[in-house]
Amino acid sequence: MHCCAIQSITLSFLIVSVVGVGLADNQPADLVLHGGKIVTVDADRPQVESLAARGGKIVALGTDEEVKPLIGPKTRVIDLAGRLAVPGFIEGHGHFVGLGHSMQILDLTKAKTWEDIARQVAAAARTAPPGRWITGRGWHQSKWTKKPAPDVEGYPTHDLLSEAAPNHPVLLTHASGHALVANAMAMRLANVDASTSDPAGGEILHDAAGEPSGVFRETAQGLIYRAHSVALNKLPAAKHRAELLASIRLAGRECLKHGVTSFQDAGSSLATIDVFRALAKDGKLPVRLWVMVGDSNARMAAGLARARVVGAGDNFLTVRGIKRSIDGALGSHGAWMLEPYNDLPQSRGLNTSSLRSLRETARLAIANDYQLCVHAIGDRANRETLDLFADVFKKHPSEKSRRWRIEHAQHLHPDDIPRFAKLGVIASMQGIHCTSDAVFVTRRLGERRAAQGAYVWQSLLKSGAVVTNGSDVPVEPVSPIASFYASVTRRLDRGATFFPKQKMTRQQALHSYTAAGAYAAFEEDIKGTLAVGKLADVVVLSEDIMTVPEEKIRGAKVDLTIIGGRVVYEREQE
Ligand SMILES: [Zn+2]
Repeated sequence: MHCCAIQSITLSFLIVSVVGVGLADNQPADLVLHGGKIVTVDADRPQVESLAARGGKIVALGTDEEVKPLIGPKTRVIDLAGRLAVPGFIEGHGHFVGLGHSMQILDLTKAKTWEDIARQVAAAARTAPPGRWITGRGWHQSKWTKKPAPDVEGYPTHDLLSEAAPNHPVLLTHASGHALVANAMAMRLANVDASTSDPAGGEILHDAAGEPSGVFRETAQGLIYRAHSVALNKLPAAKHRAELLASIRLAGRECLKHGVTSFQDAGSSLATIDVFRALAKDGKLPVRLWVMVGDSNARMAAGLARARVVGAGDNFLTVRGIKRSIDGALGSHGAWMLEPYNDLPQSRGLNTSSLRSLRETARLAIANDYQLCVHAIGDRANRETLDLFADVFKKHPSEKSRRWRIEHAQHLHPDDIPRFAKLGVIASMQGIHCTSDAVFVTRRLGERRAAQGAYVWQSLLKSGAVVTNGSDVPVEPVSPIASFYASVTRRLDRGATFFPKQKMTRQQALHSYTAAGAYAAFEEDIKGTLAVGKLADVVVLSEDIMTVPEEKIRGAKVDLTIIGGRVVYEREQE
């Protein structure tokens, strides 16, 4: 007993001297957490009781006794009272401004039927001046209690919306972001009629009479979005900027509430990135952003070199990724498949950007030292992307892995699973998509393809691939707890389990939301685990999600969110 105590005292001196706060410089910590179960995700010291932070970084980790000497009169001391603390969650793929924006338009995610949505739109139309666009997001025909009538390929038609808002253009984005439904007035403003042809990589659905039904798939959405942006562009620039800032503020608040301390933004324009940069400089970004540029090749050719930044504003902004998409989503039959859809045999999905333009983006990524991150959902889309990456890596050999990423990597042909590890390609996946989409995955793919290749986290991990986790917010709520639960259970609301062999262990799931995310952004030196010298980004949870019975995981709440040693969110006690 004594012996141990002496050892731990020696150890505390060791830690203190290692981090340069020896006796000559005996500065107290800014923050000390103690009395907890702190899971570090660091193999050297997986679990400690106490953590001290100063100047934004972790200065000590250990037992309560070991860390106690760093408590001074001004140190904020938080008693964890046995609660679990983990590294701040890294949202591996979300849309930061999109999250804030989604909080300011109609939320269609709770609707049970198409009629519910028409009622929401009618209510909005009663208060909006005629001619103002009504926008909303989050509808999903597979999640309604009854099929819309009339329908085209299972999707609703515009009729109810056009009745609900005859004098307002209406644009309602699908939950996946890969389709939208517009009403008659929106289509009129977009000059869409029966004679409008499908753009490359997109489809306009038509009713039996050959008229546009109101649903626009993949790139065809651009027709309506462009009409909407004509209206937006008439707004004064100051109003634009104010709306963007409001979105950033709302998104930040939502992230902190859910313990997200770092957010990997899957595509912002160079113009939006300029705003991020100004905010970072003033210390006003609410969470740490790692941003993929989402812009045209022409604009990127001109702007990538200037936009690249690593760790600006005290490690709040890094821009060194590029986002492209090669296909659409499974829900909207837009995922590009090797074989036809089971429930739409005339279709193998859509290739939404030409391989030629993707090759040009890859060239820009190499020339400007960016990571290329390609959205690929279908097995054909994944194969083409892996082929493209392999080709580029061969032509531009590099000693270190370039850590290029496939965003979603959702449906893989078995032959392609080991290629991720072999090529050093990150599988940037979203646990919650699996359980949320499961209701239609088998319908779309059939049993065999779903079993072999749908959300095959465990196969990827076993093959040595790095798998990150996230929510694709606003497609799903930005909740790491919900995605963690989905990752370790693959359990649907109705109780069924979606191909349980592919479940992650809790350790793997925590790793996917912390250390793997850091690695996927070249940030493993500063975050992802709790270790001396790293950023003091920590989350305290109300439940020990590493040990409670599975069904209790979902009830876990974020009690505290800490970024750079500062408490930035504290849950009000009920
Ligand atoms: Zn996305």
